[in-house]
Order: sequence, then C-alpha cells, then structure tokens
Amino acid sequence: MALDPGHGGKNHGAADPRRKGWSEKRYTLLIAQRARALLEGAGVEVWMSRVEDAPRSLQERVRAAAAHGVDAFVSIHINDHPVVGARGHGTFFLAREVFEESRARLQEFDAQTRGAVFDANVRLAPRQPLPPAGAARDALLDLLHQGAQHEAVHLAHMVNQALSERSPFGSRGVKQADFGVLKGLAMPAIVCEVGFINHPQEGPFVTSERGMDALAAGVAAGVTRYLALRRGAALPLEAPSGAPPF
Ligand SMILES: [Zn+2]
Repeated sequence: MALDPGHGGKNHGAADPRRKGWSEKRYTLLIAQRARALLEGAGVEVWMSRVEDAPRSLQERVRAAAAHGVDAFVSIHINDHPVVGARGHGTFFLAREVFEESRARLQEFDAQTRGAVFDANVRLAPRQPLPPAGAARDALLDLLHQGAQHEAVHLAHMVNQALSERSPFGSRGVKQADFGVLKGLAMPAIVCEVGFINHPQEGPFVTSERGMDALAAGVAAGVTRYLALRRGAALPLEAPSGAPPF
C-alpha cells in the first residue's frame, strides 16, 4: 500500500501558528513515517510517495504509486480553518465521478459533505446527471459500486473509525470527494485530514509526539483492518477434490 505525506517542497500546507517555520508538510511526513513503521511491523509492504521534503504534484504521486502496483493509496493531511474552533478528523474517499443517484444511495456520506472543509488538494465533485434509465445506467451504477471506489468507501470508514478511537476531538465523518487524477486507476484512494492545526487544543495534539504516535497508529490500524478483510474476502474458493477447477 502507499502512504502519501501531504504537501512538500514549496507546497507547505497549513502553517503551525505555534511553531515558527513549521507547517503541515513536516507533520504529515512525521506521521506517515510512524504509520509506515507500524504497518511494516505488521507485515504490510509500504511505498512512500515521498521520504523527504520533495515537491511532487499529486498527479505524480498517484501515478508513481500506480506504477509501483500498490493496492491502496492513503494520503495524510492536517486541516486548518479560517475560523478558529473547527476541529476533528475526517476521511475522504476519492471517487472518479459522482452521480446524483450514487450520492442518494450514499446518503450517510452526502449529509456530511455540506459545510465540509477541504484543503487545496481536495474539492467537492461537481454533480453530474445520470444517463437516462435503462441498461446503460444500471451498468454504470453497478460499476460505481464496485471496484476501486467501493473499496475506497470501506478503507475510508475503517481508517476514520480507527482515528476516532485514538483522537479525542471527534469525527467529521467520511465524505466523498472528486479526484480527477484517479481516472483510469484501479486502486482505492483516501485522504485523511487527521485534525485542525489551528484549533487551540487539537493543534497542539496533532503536532505533538504523543498525538502523532496516536494518529499514525490510527492510520495503521485502519489500513491493517481493511487489508485483512479484503484478503480474507479474496481467498480463492477451493474446488472439491477430484472436481475440475471450474
Ligand atoms: Zn493538506
């Protein structure tokens, strides 16, 4: 799986109001390095989109991850908000396209998208009309609920739940976001906003050693649960002895 520490190089991300010169890009790398150690300790192979202060576009990161054949992409970010007081972690599953009916079927997520806070990498998807009712539309909806996007919903929920178990600042929920660079890719991808850097209590938590350890443990636990579930579900069915394989 791929861990993507958000930002890097000139792209600093959210500034830390309490620590001059420190910003999101440094903390996301520190959290990702911790999560990597935990995942590798659990036997999970981890590819990092960056291991230093490298300027790489999101598109480059996603393409490199795909070239490495990773089976999941988890991007780590820290939020900020112009109005001090916003708090909590949230996780976005990244859809290639968002249709009205798929949104309706995912009402529990849709209800949470309003008023959501996004950083520069993530934007709400534009709503698109569905094709007219019929076989084409059914096939399209089936596709929407299969494959990478479907997997991403599970991955997002598991990581968000694991973060909720470790962060005392509450969950903003799992939300759907558009991610154009994912077009044509088959891996599930999520963005974790692990907390608000400019909240008076959560900021010090997400930038502390203890907080980064806790958040990394949340990411690692969610990914491990997801991989265990998927690998369990993907076990090949055994043919009865003596029977032809199909
Ligand atoms: Zn960010």
